[in-house]
Amino acid sequence: MAEKKKFKFNYVLDSTKCMACAACELECKFNGIYIDDNVNYAINLDNCNRCGKCFRACPSGAISRVNNVA
Ligand code: SF4
Ligand code: SF4
Repeated sequence: MAEKKKFKFNYVLDSTKCMACAACELECKFNGIYIDDNVNYAINLDNCNRCGKCFRACPSGAISRVNNVA
């Protein structure tokens, strides 16, 4: 089994702050942003390469960078 790439941090999307502007989705070139079962924007960390484009593009501060402690 191929070992998963490990990152020292993750990006997380707080759907309560998201205003669904789609800026993050347009910026992401890795298919990291998707719409979940509750019709909220979300980040698929399996696709996310931590480029930070969504984080910088978000006008409402819904995306934050969180250190990966595991
Ligand atoms: S950090 Fe980059 S790869 Fe990850 S979801 Fe945001 S834009 Fe996509
Ligand atoms: S850029 Fe921010 S406000 Fe816009 S859809 Fe993405 S998370 Fe929501």
